[in-house]
Amino acid sequence: METLLQLERHLRLVARPVALDVLRLGIWLLLILIVFVPLERLFSLHPQRVFRKSFGVDLAYYFLNNLLPKAMLAAPIALVAWALRHAVPGAVLTWTAELPLPLRLLAALVVGELGFYWGHRWTHESPFLWRFHAVHHSAEQIDWLVNTRAHPLDIVFVRLCGFIPMYALGLAQPLKGQALDPVPLFVMLTATFWGFFVHANLRWRLGWLSHLVSTPFFHHWHHTNDEHTDKNYASMLPCMDWLFGTWYLPRQWPPRYGTDTPVAEGLAAQLANPLWKA
Ligand SMILES: [Zn+2]
Ligand SMILES: [Zn+2]
Repeated sequence: METLLQLERHLRLVARPVALDVLRLGIWLLLILIVFVPLERLFSLHPQRVFRKSFGVDLAYYFLNNLLPKAMLAAPIALVAWALRHAVPGAVLTWTAELPLPLRLLAALVVGELGFYWGHRWTHESPFLWRFHAVHHSAEQIDWLVNTRAHPLDIVFVRLCGFIPMYALGLAQPLKGQALDPVPLFVMLTATFWGFFVHANLRWRLGWLSHLVSTPFFHHWHHTNDEHTDKNYASMLPCMDWLFGTWYLPRQWPPRYGTDTPVAEGLAAQLANPLWKA
């Protein structure tokens, strides 16, 4: 009886933060939905229903990918941050740590973007990593919610690639007690919200802005399934694609989306198959 009570108390302690997280995510989802659903109705690029194919699976990914990768990243990031503090010259770390916060945020955004660019590119170029990333490219209809369709390990890998250079240069600091460093948090939140926008089913080409920051026009070309695949990897700054020779932006929109790599339709199979199937 005593053990049962202890177990119940323990479960309640664990369940409460998870339940709070789910509630918080539900509220965010509602806010994102209120912005994008009317916008996509008013300015739709392709006629498509809100509850299109795989809507439920993508919704499940929304919760899964906002809970799992965060938990999975804590330990490797702490380890990497600790190791880098011993490997990087102290003068570099002191200089960047003393930068005013707005400058540190801006520098982290650019440096993080460089890491995200290469992380994302490797998920296309390595057959092993592509098994996980193909899940994101399996969407044949693109809208705001496709942003969430990704294997959690794919997210963990790309985020690590983005965070490592930030910690290496001292732009992000290892956790002090329970306080979360605002720099990686800011970069991650900006990239996440921007992700909903660039996937949206919006016919806005946004002219010269598509050269400066990633837009739906820019990222929809990343999802093309014609002969121009493996382009436009940047999540926010297309200059990375300029720099590394993968920039592609013609006048028209992509003719079709998706991938020729077979990807299962159900959530469980999408999560399990990349672990053991080539
Ligand atoms: Zn991709
Ligand atoms: Zn995408």
